[in-house]
Amino acid sequence: MNSTIRTRFAPSPTGFLHIGNARTAIMNWIFARHHGGQFVLRIEDTDQERSTSSSEEAILQDLTWLGLDWDEGPGKEGNVGPYRQTERMDLYHSHMKQLIDEGKLYPCYCSAEELEARREEMLAKGEQPHYDGRCRHLTSEQKKQYEAEGRQPVYRLLVQNEAIDFDDLARGPIHFEGENLSDFVVARADGMPMYNFACVIDDYLMNISHVIRGDDHVSNTPRQILLYRALGWQAPQFAHIPMILGPDRSRLSKRHGATSVAQYREGGFLPEALVNFLSLLSWSSASGEEILSTRQLIDEFDFSRVSKAASVFDVEKLRWMNGVYIRNMEITPLAQALYPFMQGKYPVESAQDVEPVAKLLHEHLETLDQVVGKAAILYQDSVDLTDSELQEVVAAESSQLVYQTFLQLLNSDEAFTGAVFGALMKEIQKQTGVKGKNLWMPMRVALTGQLHGPELFPIVEILGLEKCRRFVQQAIR
Ligand code: GLU
Repeated sequence: MNSTIRTRFAPSPTGFLHIGNARTAIMNWIFARHHGGQFVLRIEDTDQERSTSSSEEAILQDLTWLGLDWDEGPGKEGNVGPYRQTERMDLYHSHMKQLIDEGKLYPCYCSAEELEARREEMLAKGEQPHYDGRCRHLTSEQKKQYEAEGRQPVYRLLVQNEAIDFDDLARGPIHFEGENLSDFVVARADGMPMYNFACVIDDYLMNISHVIRGDDHVSNTPRQILLYRALGWQAPQFAHIPMILGPDRSRLSKRHGATSVAQYREGGFLPEALVNFLSLLSWSSASGEEILSTRQLIDEFDFSRVSKAASVFDVEKLRWMNGVYIRNMEITPLAQALYPFMQGKYPVESAQDVEPVAKLLHEHLETLDQVVGKAAILYQDSVDLTDSELQEVVAAESSQLVYQTFLQLLNSDEAFTGAVFGALMKEIQKQTGVKGKNLWMPMRVALTGQLHGPELFPIVEILGLEKCRRFVQQAIR
């Protein structure tokens, strides 16, 4: 085995990048980066009916967005490509031929109907369904006969009754009894390799040292190990990481909410927060720290701290974590991240236009898309004061006094900064004797139509003098 650490992520391009698969990719990427190894991306597109190039593109885009750069893969050719399985058919076929010549693979002519009938029979007898080995030792006469009937063979691996043991890096020692693994199909009648076969050929020829994947694949691993044995190859190290569960502890699925990376991107989550959150669904840092930069995740990753139990996807925790990441951002990159969410909805032409908004809402966002709702008060043309609670504030005698004094004191000659507004409020307090909540609440209500919200000074600055004048005028009864 090659001594450098090489991991791979091997998505099937049959849909969006699922959160669970993203977590698998993250684990492989972090592990490779931790060891200064390589991370390979391989597209498993042998299911041609379900694979689409648009899915492949979407997956690549999501991985790129997450920051999971691959050292080899589509668009980044290395020495062991190509990196799409449909472009590797010659490799599969030559290895198949070798195994057929060695008598390790054999053609099986049983039809789907025949197999199904036998399966039913076995089940009726209370047996575990398995392939009964009927085509194991066909004579060339029998093969010719089947072919004359128009039957196309699949190819099966001849499985001896051998036990399989391997040491799973995440789960510890795993044992499979040989009799449970009947001769399985490695290639379809049209020559298309099955997943287990293509996966073994690729992992070996791509010098993959560690196969890290979800534990839904753990039952494939003994079959893959049998193929390594048949080919006389040493198997890589395996690690099967526990599934992600929904809050009801069933496997995370669409009915639990958003399950694709794209949905989280569109929902205003930051890639660093998602990487942090997803990686901690599988392991915990020795320090117990939860907010870990990508660099820290890489540095602190340790297989011995991978948990064996499945973890629950707690979207509230992800939202909290995302909020922490937003608060830790500098204003300029935050404005850049917010700009696409505001574009087309508010009169902003560039990320720079969003900077005052970013400054104002910096501490108030859990997700970037919340800016749409929260920024509304900054761009409205009139303030809706019909709510009875608001009306009560506005109609109070002291509030009306505050509004009138505000309009009298307003001086359009100077720039209307937060500081100017502050000085004005002080003067209103002095002249009217109204102070504290009775002074500030009516002003907030008149200017924003809300009882609570972010700091008023920057809001006033963004609104500008004319709007402030108009909104206060509208509150006069
Ligand atoms: N294409 C398989 C999947 O997406 C890869 C499994 C593996 O990592 O071996 O589930």
